[in-house]
Amino acid sequence: MLKVTNLSAGYGDIIAIRDFSFSVEPGQIHAFVGANGAGKSSTLMCLMGLVEQKSGSIQMDTKDISNEQIEGRITAGLAIVPEGRRIFPDLSVRENLMVGGHIVPTSVMIAGIEMVYEFFPRLSERQTQAAGSLSGGEQQMLALGRALISQPKILIVDELSLGLMPIIVDECYEVLKKLKSEGIGILLVEQNTERALSVADNVSALEAGNLFWSGTSAQARANKSLTERLMGVT
Ligand code: ATP
Repeated sequence: MLKVTNLSAGYGDIIAIRDFSFSVEPGQIHAFVGANGAGKSSTLMCLMGLVEQKSGSIQMDTKDISNEQIEGRITAGLAIVPEGRRIFPDLSVRENLMVGGHIVPTSVMIAGIEMVYEFFPRLSERQTQAAGSLSGGEQQMLALGRALISQPKILIVDELSLGLMPIIVDECYEVLKKLKSEGIGILLVEQNTERALSVADNVSALEAGNLFWSGTSAQARANKSLTERLMGVT
């Protein structure tokens, strides 16, 4: 469904990722793993049109979206939970969710908000509360919920577990598993390699802007030299 071919992306003269190909199918979790600076976040941001694509192609279904603005990419079925959450602290929980739905019809947005409240009852209880006063875990739930409002086919998630208590991370991952079971494809960047390998179907391992290994997560877990290399960098 999402097919990326020979993607290179970066910032001016800096190439953050080189010649990277991967795909994400419906109901599948694909994880990018690797050290800081490997190019994981830059790739995700490039998929959304927020980092410059230097070459290659990004296809959703059969459509090349390489030249689309972010709105066109959301309409094509992509949505991102960015690193650091980027919620609007002065807006209420409900208003933050409405921001996530600003390009979809109102009926879709309202249905999306109700769905998010079902996933995260804690957000429902705090609908009118300023998002900045939520706990870190609740803010992550809000960021995840906001990305779901446009009913994406592919959900892109950058560093879900960063700075969160394990119990909250478990809760967020349960939601990812539920989304997967509903046929949503998930592209995941996760510093916690063990967690990434435990949940992913497929894995791309990156280092300094290059793909150095790809395969199923079962193959990754069985590959001792790979896991040692990956665990050494978390
Ligand atoms: P991390 O886990 O630390 O976020 P990452 O694998 O996501 O690592 P990126 O953040 O994509 O890696 O960084 C890839 C390369 O792009 C690095 O060399 C980084 O210095 C560079 N880079 C990232 N953001 C910018 C930017 N805004 N301007 C210039 N270079 C950048």
